[in-house]
Amino acid sequence: MPDSTETLDPSDWDAHRAVAHQMVDDAVDYVRDVRSRPVWQDMPQDVRARFRDGVPEKGQPLQEVYRQVVADVLPYPMGNIHPRFWMWFMGASNFTGALGDFLAAILGSNLGGGDHSAAEIDKQVVCWMKEMVGYPESASGTLVSGGSMANLIGLTVARNRMSGIDLRELGVGGMTAAMRFYGSDQLHSCHRIAVEAMGLGNRALRRVPSDAACQMNLSALRTAIAEDRASGLHPAAVIATAGTVNTGAIDDLEAIADLCTAEGLWMHVDGCIGALLAIAPEGRALVRGIERADSIALDPHKWLHAPFEVGCALVRDAEAHLATFSVTPEYLEAAPRGIASGAWLHDFGLQTSRGFRALKVWMALKEHGLEKFGRLIDQDLAHARHLSKRIAATPNLTLCAPTVINIVCFRYDPGGLSEDALKRLNIEIMVRMQESGIAAVSDTTVQGRHSLRAAINNHRTTPSDLDILVEEVARLGKALIDDGAG
Ligand SMILES: *Cc1c(COP(=O)(O)O)cnc(C)c1O
Repeated sequence: MPDSTETLDPSDWDAHRAVAHQMVDDAVDYVRDVRSRPVWQDMPQDVRARFRDGVPEKGQPLQEVYRQVVADVLPYPMGNIHPRFWMWFMGASNFTGALGDFLAAILGSNLGGGDHSAAEIDKQVVCWMKEMVGYPESASGTLVSGGSMANLIGLTVARNRMSGIDLRELGVGGMTAAMRFYGSDQLHSCHRIAVEAMGLGNRALRRVPSDAACQMNLSALRTAIAEDRASGLHPAAVIATAGTVNTGAIDDLEAIADLCTAEGLWMHVDGCIGALLAIAPEGRALVRGIERADSIALDPHKWLHAPFEVGCALVRDAEAHLATFSVTPEYLEAAPRGIASGAWLHDFGLQTSRGFRALKVWMALKEHGLEKFGRLIDQDLAHARHLSKRIAATPNLTLCAPTVINIVCFRYDPGGLSEDALKRLNIEIMVRMQESGIAAVSDTTVQGRHSLRAAINNHRTTPSDLDILVEEVARLGKALIDDGAG
């Protein structure tokens, strides 16, 4: 009887190998030549239309599939690996990290747990993250999809630990007083989602005003805590931000740690932007005190330039971390030896199956070493100072916030325009720069003033790329004004 068993493995391994080699060759060229391409370009209608085709019923050779990737996918990226991409706060990826993701997928291991090499690397990378921020070996942690999930993990441990009840059994309805978390009005939006998902509701997250430097105003924080205690609420945790998304401001971590100790509150640090300053020779001083936090969220896919996704939640009290998430169903009991004898890595978060995110981080750190990553962070800080100086020295360009780390807020302001007109003008400058493929910045509103915003989190950026940005904003601003904008 003929064997009709099907498999996803190729029928001709050598033909497959040839296509795979082509992909690697093309990928090397793609990254090497990134500077020669536009940062971003709009997708033509026919390309967009193909992305709306239904599910393919029949297969086609891999070569054909790859041909479509080359034609329709590779030319239209978001652009964040380009040296002149500075939107939001993204990593610029790295080739070794991409190889790591490929090899992780080849292995195909599930990091929910078990005794295997990938699980060991996952745990090792978490230990490295603890070392980077100055946490003790006894602390705990887990790799997650990104900073939003890392914050949710930290805040959930805080909620359970601070509730004073068996929260896992009773739920938030079992609490006698409503819990309060505190963060500045510059807090990232993921914290709102977190308190909502945690069943506490948006009102449980009290926004404390920030000062002129966009740092949390600590006397306002003290007042808020006292007020809440007086009205019978239950102050539980302070979320300090090390690197706000708007301007890169860093809350006073030492003072917040003192306050949390004095008040008996949990201290969580959202370090998605700034926690890794702790590895930079110059930057380190900016996050002094971070190691005093009870939990920290950080983001290797930002300042370690790991390909998306990888975030990391760290919790000082390992027992509290485990007690928040661990469950052992009958089908996941540990065996004395063999594959199921390892630690259950799913016990530290919300996922059961977990990808091998650690390998891309592990390989890049092994290749470059931590010192180089630290120097690259300091280089971004120096680039931000360069850009700020150029802006300050250019007529009609104004800085809109102090530059503390690698985020520069500025705008084209020829004088005499209303806030609304300035906003329209600067949005038009931003969009035209993106459409021309020259440079990509984003925008925000800082203390009522709309501004363009460059987050220079990019190991490919050079000072002359930033000079191009300054010249282009000035040129477009002038051209738009000459055309009667405003
Ligand atoms: C990016 C960011 C987050 C969210 O992280 P993701 O990796 O995008 O989920 C949270 N907080 C701050 C301050 C950030 O910059």
